[in-house]
Amino acid sequence: MAAAAIARGIPLWLSSPIVELHQAGRRTVGAVIDKEGKPVEVTARLGVVLARGGFPGNDDLTRRLYAHRRAGKNHATLPPCGNASDGLRLAQSVGGRLRDAVHQPAAWTPVSLVPQPDGALYRFRISTSAVSPATSALIGVVVASPTSPNPITSMSPS
Ligand SMILES: Cc1cc2nc3c(=O)[nH]c(=O)nc-3n(C[C@H](O)[C@H](O)[C@H](O)COP(=O)(O)OP(=O)(O)OC[C@H]3O[C@@H](n4cnc5c(N)ncnc54)[C@H](O)[C@@H]3O)c2cc1C
Repeated sequence: MAAAAIARGIPLWLSSPIVELHQAGRRTVGAVIDKEGKPVEVTARLGVVLARGGFPGNDDLTRRLYAHRRAGKNHATLPPCGNASDGLRLAQSVGGRLRDAVHQPAAWTPVSLVPQPDGALYRFRISTSAVSPATSALIGVVVASPTSPNPITSMSPS
């Protein structure tokens, strides 16, 4: 989408969150954007596309929809943590509804947390789809304990 916009000379505003949608009757005709701390009204000629990501940064919603979060556990999130369900809130403000009766509300994958020199943890996705006998193996590392001296089991594809 960015490449198509740049090719057509459409300006991209970074760090400019959408704040609210404008409606005329039942039609969504524009939005208010927070541009450098100032509200700017943008009028849409044809329509407004909400490409605001999911809700990994929304504590209430992830607790409501993820059973392990309700049980007091957590996970490492790969999508931008700034995706705090603004898109859902905006869609709901113009009549959208969240259908949460789904089998799984998120895609799950093993994640490595790789320490960086500055102390940050880089989140690295382990692509399980790339694991095949011909290409690679998934290696799990566990810490040995006195009661479990040899806890490592081969996880290589056979
Ligand atoms: C590690 C990883 C690997 C993946 N690999 C694949 C793959 O191989 N193939 C595939 O098809 N899919 C893949 N996906 C899934 C794919 O990336 C997502 O489905 C897709 O990016 C979702 O697009 P989106 O526009 O809804 O959200 P995003 O790509 O998350 O974009 C949302 C954007 O909105 C911005 N934003 C947030 N709040 C506001 C606001 N208020 N106003 C304005 N902007 C805002 C965010 O900063 C972000 O830039 C992968 C995802 C992850 C996390």
